Parts: sequence; structure tokens; C-alpha cells
Amino acid sequence: MTPVNHAVEIRDLHKHFGKLEVLKGIDFAVDPGQVVCVIGPSGSGKSTLLRCVNLLEQPTSGRVVLEGVELTDRDVDIDAARRRVGMVFQQFNLFPHMTALQNVMVAQRRVLKRGRAEAEKIARENLEKVGIADKCDAYPLQLSGGQQQRVAIARALAMNPALMLFDEPTSALDPELVGDVLTVMRKLAEEGMTMLVVTHEMAFARDVADRVVFMDGGVIVEDGPAAQVIGEPQHERTKSFLRRVL
Ligand code: ADP
Ligand code: MG
Repeated sequence: MTPVNHAVEIRDLHKHFGKLEVLKGIDFAVDPGQVVCVIGPSGSGKSTLLRCVNLLEQPTSGRVVLEGVELTDRDVDIDAARRRVGMVFQQFNLFPHMTALQNVMVAQRRVLKRGRAEAEKIARENLEKVGIADKCDAYPLQLSGGQQQRVAIARALAMNPALMLFDEPTSALDPELVGDVLTVMRKLAEEGMTMLVVTHEMAFARDVADRVVFMDGGVIVEDGPAAQVIGEPQHERTKSFLRRVL
């Protein structure tokens, strides 16, 4: 068998906050081009897991390996590794005093040191990709929540990430705006983007995800093909969660 080069591999990951153990030994991997959705009740550790993948949180123990590079190694260039990961949050975290275009340019300029013309070109391409090319000059407060979230997605994409993390990207949106953001995410998935998505959108998970991971109480209870985990869950905890959200 040829060795699999995972986009990200997580082995026996533990995370404590003081005495509270939030992640109790998480193991899974995402392969290049895969879409994995993480579902589970509030407080089960989903956000903490994503935050450990891009080292917004320091794991207590265990391994996080990104494109073969062990992030938990002391000698690793953490900033370089982190640049390979795009993150989209529930709250869009745009700079309010910058236009959409400026928001998508700023990290390209500061972090990747791209020149102004190149950064602007890439920003415009990505704003077009998420369907808001006409909003380049708008400020966040002039945009709907769905438009702001699409700016945030364009901003992440402009950094050419190897992996995109989404933490409940549609949870803060008015219901009628959810579809536009999911459409963009669906398109990214079809284009082969590697994605790890925490979501409560079960239809999205069922239709788009290659795998669904169900977490509860800091452990992975179930991990399998979307149709199986959502359609024919094996564990009682998964069944009762799905009964509540479906
Ligand atoms: P989820 O995203 O599944 O709702 P979280 O990962 O946000 O779960 O949180 C899991 C648990 O960890 C919760 O009990 C939460 O209160 C706790 N927690 C998260 N972040 C911190 C922190 N920085 N300090 C202390 N406790 C935290
Ligand atoms: Mg969360």
C-alpha cells in the first residue's frame, strides 16, 4: 500500500482547560480534497478541536500533523504552518474600517508580503468567486451577514490555504442568508478544497461531506460516510442528537 499523505492528521489529541478535560483523545485524519463535517452538541469540544488544528489553542498532548509537518514539534515554524490553514468563524471578524477589498488584501500584504497590485488582483478574483464582486468597495456594516461571511471566506482563500476550517459559519446568519454561504462552500468542495467544517446544517453535511464525525463529551463517538452517520447512526448518543436536530 502506498502511504497516504493526509492533509491533516490528529492523533490522541487531549486538551485541558485547568481541570476540565475538553478533548479526551481525538484521532482522525482528513485527506486532500476531502470534506469532513463535525457535528455534535454544544460544549462537546468541536471549536476547541478546530482551534487546536491551527494552534489558536495549544494541545495538552497528542499530535497535529499538517501536510506531514508536526505542528506540536518545538522546531516547527508555527507561523508558516498556520498560514497553510484558512479559518472561517461564526462571527466574521472583518475589520470594520476597511472595505471588503481591503479586508481581503490586508493579510496578503502583511503576512505573504504580496505587492499591492497582486494582492488586489487576487482579492478581486476571490470576491468574484464568492459572488460579491460588486461589493468590493462596501464596508462591513453596509453588507448583510451572508455577504460579510463571504468576504471572510474570500479573505481566507486569498492566502492559498491547503486546508479550510469552518466553525459554524452559518450559525449567526438570518435563515434566508444561510443558503448563499452554503452554496459558496459547496462550490469550494466541488473544486477540490480540503475542508473541515463544524456545522448544524445536516442537509449540507449529508450532501457535501465525504465523512461525518459525531463528537460528544470530548470524544469521537462515530466517524463514517455521511449517509451512514446521519442516515443509519450506530450509537444511541448519535441517534438522540440527530433526533433533536433533524
Ligand atoms: P463546542 O464548540 O462543541 O460547543 P467548545 O470547544 O467551544 O465546544 O467547548 C468545549 C468545552 O470547553 C466547554 O465546556 C467550554 O466551556 C470549554 N472551553 C472552551 N474554551 C475554553 C477556555 N478558553 N477556557 C476554559 N474553558 C473553555
Ligand atoms: Mg463551537
